[in-house]
Amino acid sequence: MSCTCSKTETGRGAEHSFAPGPILLLGAPGVGKGTQAKELVKLWGIPQISTGDLLRGNVARGTELGKMAKELMSRGELVPDTLVNEMVAARLAEPDTAKGYILDGFPRTLGQAGWLDDKLKGLTASLPVVAVSIQVGYNQLLRRITGRRNCPTCQAIYNVYMNAPKQEGVCDVDGAKLVQRADDTEEVLKERVHAYETLTAPVVEHYRAQGRFAEVDGDRPIAEIAAGIVAAVERLRG
Ligand code: AMP
Repeated sequence: MSCTCSKTETGRGAEHSFAPGPILLLGAPGVGKGTQAKELVKLWGIPQISTGDLLRGNVARGTELGKMAKELMSRGELVPDTLVNEMVAARLAEPDTAKGYILDGFPRTLGQAGWLDDKLKGLTASLPVVAVSIQVGYNQLLRRITGRRNCPTCQAIYNVYMNAPKQEGVCDVDGAKLVQRADDTEEVLKERVHAYETLTAPVVEHYRAQGRFAEVDGDRPIAEIAAGIVAAVERLRG
C-alpha cells in the first residue's frame, strides 16, 4: 500500500516508525517557535503545546487563569510558574501526547524546567526530552514580532515582511481577517526579551548541560530551519 503520509515543506513524509517523544522548542520571542512547531506537527502528527496559545485561550474565555494572566501578558511579563505548570500538566494528560509533543514556549524558567524534569521522571513510558534552541539576532526578532499576523480561525502565522498572505490582511487558508497580537509591539517586545534574557536563557543552559540539545540558525527560510530541526531531533534520538 502506498504511503499517504503528509509532506511538509521539508519535502519529507511522516515517518511512522520514528517516535519523536517530547520536543522542546527554545528561543527568544519571535524566533519562529510557533511556525516551526506547526511544521513538525505536519511531519510527525504529534501535537503542538504552546503555553502562549493556551494562556490566550484562557484570556479569551475569561477563565480565572485568564483573568490572572491577562495583565502580565499585556506587559510582556511571565505568568507565575505554578499556574503555567498546572495548565501544562492538564494538557500533557490528554491522550494525543502519547507518542510525543512539541512544547512551544515552555519551560521558560528554571522552576518550570525542574518541574518538567520531575514530571517526566514520573512517567516511565516517556522518552527523555530533546531540546532545540532557535537563534535569531535582535533586529530580525523585531521584524518578526512587529510583522507577525495570525489567523484567529486556523492559527496560521504570517509575516507582512517575510511570509505575507496573498491578499493583505486575509488568511490564505480560510479567508479570515488576520489579527495582530496585543503584545506584538516594539515596546512590549523589549520587556519580553528582558524576561527571556534574565529568566529563560538559563533554561537553555540547563538543557545544553543535560545533552540531547541542539542549536539551529533561525535566520533562514522556514523549510530550511525545519529541516535543521528534524535532522537534529533524529540525530539526538538516534
Ligand atoms: P508566547 O505566545 O509564547 O510569546 O507567550 C505570550 C505570553 O504568554 C508571554 O509573554 C508570557 O506573558 C505568557 N507565557 C507564555 N508561556 C509562558 C510560560 N511558559 N511561563 C510564563 N509565562 C508564559
